[in-house]
Amino acid sequence: MIGIGMIRGESGVTEFKLPKPRIKADDEVLIKVREVGLDGTDFGILAKGAPDIAPGADSMVLGHEMTGFVEEIGSAVTTVKPGDLVTVTVRRGCGICHPCLENQSDMCMTGLYTERGIHKLDGFLTEFVVDKEQYVVKVPGDCTDMAVLSEPLSIVAKGIEQIRLIQSRMPWNCAHPDHSFSSPMWGGCKIAMVIGAGPLGLMAAAQLRLAEATVIVTDIVPENHPKARLAGYLEAQYINVKGLNAAQIMNHDAIRGERLDVIIEASGASNFALELVNYMSRSSIYVMTGIPQQEQMVCVDAASILRQIVRFNQVIVGSVNSNRHHFESIMQIIPEIKRRFPELRDRVLTDRYPLSEYRRAFTEKSSEGIKTVIDLA
Ligand SMILES: [Zn+2]
Ligand SMILES: [Zn+2]
Repeated sequence: MIGIGMIRGESGVTEFKLPKPRIKADDEVLIKVREVGLDGTDFGILAKGAPDIAPGADSMVLGHEMTGFVEEIGSAVTTVKPGDLVTVTVRRGCGICHPCLENQSDMCMTGLYTERGIHKLDGFLTEFVVDKEQYVVKVPGDCTDMAVLSEPLSIVAKGIEQIRLIQSRMPWNCAHPDHSFSSPMWGGCKIAMVIGAGPLGLMAAAQLRLAEATVIVTDIVPENHPKARLAGYLEAQYINVKGLNAAQIMNHDAIRGERLDVIIEASGASNFALELVNYMSRSSIYVMTGIPQQEQMVCVDAASILRQIVRFNQVIVGSVNSNRHHFESIMQIIPEIKRRFPELRDRVLTDRYPLSEYRRAFTEKSSEGIKTVIDLA
């Protein structure tokens, strides 16, 4: 069978032959891949030209967002059966630390984890994959059409879980019992900013709106770009921040000098991300999910920022990856998103390619495009 990925010492994405994987243990599942989503991590690996190939291997299959049909199961597998649509989590734990041993490899303490399609393990851009049942998540019938977005949705679900866990440290500042962080409507009376209108930022906007937060989405594309219009469809205010400094942004009509109760950074724009700390409200929380790539030196008043973080009880938290529990939780969230925002799926999955055109999928993303998916079925 064919794998799509990168070869050690070579740049660019290419195809190579792989043996079809077989079930070797009774807790394994053989899956026929249906679709693979590409994101900034994939494009970043390609641009860097040096994929993180396992020692001893010559190539790495790319792709870490997928759906597929179960083809065969080991004798001990109980949660999925042949014919089921499934998705597969990305990270495999180090096998040493307590978070990994308790199925929270997203919180690995040793850094010795691996990740399918990203870090020392083959990804999903191939015809068949085998994985252990504990990493295979069944997709319910009402989630099948959005399931290729499971991984980005799970990243956002983890970020929002962090917000709710951490903010349960105090009663919220309004009088509405529905707006406590333990309520589904926890976002009411709160202003949230999402930095970046890529797939991750848009998924964050959708989930924040389900929680009734006032949502502002920022990016550097014009207001008529499909990303910006989609943010509007998700009932968020869009601000094109190109050429604006943080002070100008915070005086925009959508914000009018209010402070931000929740910030989710999903762009990796380090300068802007840091400046925004100055505009956090008291007892607020800032979740960083974007990974800045290039070096960026900035001049900040460090004393002012640190003084404010202390005096205002502010939390800045990084959040990376997600575990099985987040993938399972988004299977509850997808039907809600579809009811509230029925056009979201078609408006976010803009660029679809058959497997034979994988090179175009990696290199020719349309300027109006948001999410690229490769169809293998
Ligand atoms: Zn670990
Ligand atoms: Zn309230």
